[in-house]
Amino acid sequence: MSQYAHTTGERMNKTLLVGNWKMNLGIAASAELARDVRAASNHLENTEIWLAPSFPCITAVASALKGSSLKLGAQNVHWEVQGAFTGEVSAGMLRELGCEFVIVGHSERRHVFGETSEMVAKRCACALNSGFTTILCLGETLEEREQGQTKGVIESQLRQCLKSLKPDQLARLVIAYEPVWAIGTGKIAEPQQIDQAHSIIASHFPQAQPAIIYGGSVTAENFAGIVSLGSVAGALIGGASIDVKKFVPLIEIAER
Ligand code: PEP
Repeated sequence: MSQYAHTTGERMNKTLLVGNWKMNLGIAASAELARDVRAASNHLENTEIWLAPSFPCITAVASALKGSSLKLGAQNVHWEVQGAFTGEVSAGMLRELGCEFVIVGHSERRHVFGETSEMVAKRCACALNSGFTTILCLGETLEEREQGQTKGVIESQLRQCLKSLKPDQLARLVIAYEPVWAIGTGKIAEPQQIDQAHSIIASHFPQAQPAIIYGGSVTAENFAGIVSLGSVAGALIGGASIDVKKFVPLIEIAER
């Protein structure tokens, strides 16, 4: 079973499943899904479940998860405390809502909304400075892979973030390797491609290794093969996380 760095910094033999609900589900549907996932997560021993609903649904999901071991998170955070940043959300606001983790640098933020690695680094540093466990997403586009730039892209995205972090913050960092061409496309990276990318990432952490999870079209059909890789500590899941019938089988595979 893979390992990941727990929020307290200790290492645990658990697989991490993070549901990224993106801009899906309304408030009632989010609460219902959270309740369903909670019910399916009773007595988990080998798996941690974290859920990232859309911002307006966080409060409803927080109520649904109250008292459970499931963690609540957000899909982004701005680096400033407050101010004229229309459409953004601060770490303090997310803390008040009960979030424990934050996702930064998701490929949709980078490639659909034009977030640069500099912006992602600021979000990442702010999230960690604010005490959140932080999932830093990175990965190459198809064009970059075909041009042999995968290693360079991963390293540049990673270095940009790491240069502003202090060693004691690394225990709260999770890295999600998400090849852009595999996200929401149904195309899955080959085990060897995942292993290679994860070892490039791991080589930047000579001491405390963060958890490195995989994301990109994970389903019950392909997850067992992915999670059995020693370099994979879990998965960031989009499409299959918003349907309880698709998510629960992933929990069952992780728990085996
Ligand atoms: C994601 O949103 O990070 C993701 C991996 O999406 P999907 O599982 O739908 O490819």
